[in-house]
Amino acid sequence: MALSEFQLFRPKTIQSAVALLAQHKGDIQVLAGGTDLLPSMRQKLFAPKYVLDIRGVEELKRIRVLAGGGLEIGALVTLSQIEDSEFIRRNYPVLRKAAMTIASPILRNMGTIGGNICLDTRCLWYNQSYAWRTSCGFCIKKDGSLCHVAPGGSKCWAVFSGDTPPALLCLGAEIEIAGPGGTRRIALADLYTGLGDTRLKIAKDEMLTRVFIRESMSGYRGAYQKLRVRGSIDYPLAGVAVIVKSSGRHAPVQDAKVAITAVNPSPMLVVGADHALIGRAVDEHIATVVGELAARTAKPLTTSALTPEYRREMIKVFAKRAVLEAAAG
Ligand SMILES: Cc1cc2nc3c(=O)[nH]c(=O)nc-3n(C[C@H](O)[C@H](O)[C@H](O)COP(=O)(O)OP(=O)(O)OC[C@H]3O[C@@H](n4cnc5c(N)ncnc54)[C@H](O)[C@@H]3O)c2cc1C
Repeated sequence: MALSEFQLFRPKTIQSAVALLAQHKGDIQVLAGGTDLLPSMRQKLFAPKYVLDIRGVEELKRIRVLAGGGLEIGALVTLSQIEDSEFIRRNYPVLRKAAMTIASPILRNMGTIGGNICLDTRCLWYNQSYAWRTSCGFCIKKDGSLCHVAPGGSKCWAVFSGDTPPALLCLGAEIEIAGPGGTRRIALADLYTGLGDTRLKIAKDEMLTRVFIRESMSGYRGAYQKLRVRGSIDYPLAGVAVIVKSSGRHAPVQDAKVAITAVNPSPMLVVGADHALIGRAVDEHIATVVGELAARTAKPLTTSALTPEYRREMIKVFAKRAVLEAAAG
């Protein structure tokens, strides 16, 4: 489990970080908090020749309320900063609730929002030590040509298991990506490929720099429900984020969004959930309908120790609970 040798770069600006990415394209890996990357490097899932530690880029460590309204979150903002932000608690509670479920307090002190958004996908057959993978067989995501989850298939089904992206998808977040040609801004929903191996639409010489949430998305009530093996520290094996806007607990819903994580290679908005909720007062029946829609969007396979059937059922249960919780405020 020792780390392989690598050369470490510590740029102080986005421009120099991006220049290093371009110079060593393909052989270099971004390190933010390192809470996922370093264990993965110990498991020999990555053996980059160069590691780009971006923690010296101070401008990416800020949460900033924008003059015209809305919020900018630097990629290096830690999950603890999000948890502690009074502004986020008041205006975008679903994001705080999701962040608070991640790992443990110590890992949240190190782990960043950028790292959470760009998190590698996970699978029972992949997130194992090199010795384990040698004896049980490599897979198409790393070192092999076979998928143990869907034998005979050529697609990687490893699962995206970050907790904040479903909350950010509900909030319609956008992200800024910096590359040698400057920056571009895209919807977070357009970042993910839907594939377990090549999971992100980011070029090898680009990095995520900022997250933006519009002011119009503030004031929604929110809930995040998560299935995990160890309640105090684990990655999600199913997760549901819900936001609801209404004038009161029993008033008709004006707007709503539901998104799921940890059951597909990408986090996903639940199509049709908003239509099921808008214009109605939330009750058990509507919450059950949304649960069923969420379960239809989920495509869990045998990527974890819990069975796909159980995880799909729990998506249904958690979506229903999250809708009721968000509506109750
Ligand atoms: C025991 C344990 C439990 C955990 N539980 C959870 C959990 O419950 N929920 C959860 O969501 N996560 C969990 N994690 C994973 C991790 O702690 C968090 O996802 C964290 O937010 C990752 O952020 P980081 O800054 O440490 O990312 P890093 O480890 O530094 O990076 C993660 C990945 O993102 C890439 N990356 C990072 N920043 C950028 C950027 N700005 N631009 C482009 N690429 C970038 C890296 O190259 C790497 O591939 C857990 C980890 C451990 C060890």
